[in-house]
Amino acid sequence: MSEDNAHNHNDCIDTALATAETLCLEQGQRLTKVRRRALELIWESHRPLGAYQLLAKLAEEGFNSAPPTVYRALDFLLNAGLIHKVESMNAYLGCAHADKEHKGYFLICDECHNVMEFDYQDIHASLVAKAAQHGFELRSETIELTGLCADCRNAEAEVRA
Ligand SMILES: [Zn+2]
Ligand SMILES: [Zn+2]
Ligand SMILES: [Zn+2]
Repeated sequence: MSEDNAHNHNDCIDTALATAETLCLEQGQRLTKVRRRALELIWESHRPLGAYQLLAKLAEEGFNSAPPTVYRALDFLLNAGLIHKVESMNAYLGCAHADKEHKGYFLICDECHNVMEFDYQDIHASLVAKAAQHGFELRSETIELTGLCADCRNAEAEVRA
């Protein structure tokens, strides 16, 4: 099943790039060609992209794709909050809420490998409270949950029917 069934993914890409332009302008940063293209390539789908895949794609397009260049671009995008690193996949995901402060809570589909972000303040509050019970102060917070996304569940249901 194509990931574009449920929505027009070009809208996601357009919005993400527009947000990136605005954020960089506000922060006095430059969205250089390689940074912009890296972001665009990461946004090609809702499946996180590994650094080496990104490197290969940039090389194909004739960018200076030496690993330091690519890692610097990734660092920039991460620091700007424009992408997230999904640790369990060792890959990078475009963020659709880059202009809002939020934690990285991810729903990862085992089947199509699409990743959805969710942001529930109630979970955040109870995590902070639980950690505090152990005298622990949270600094970073990432939740990566795996399962089956709505599209893949529908596809399975159709096969069974
Ligand atoms: Zn999309
Ligand atoms: Zn995000
Ligand atoms: Zn799926």
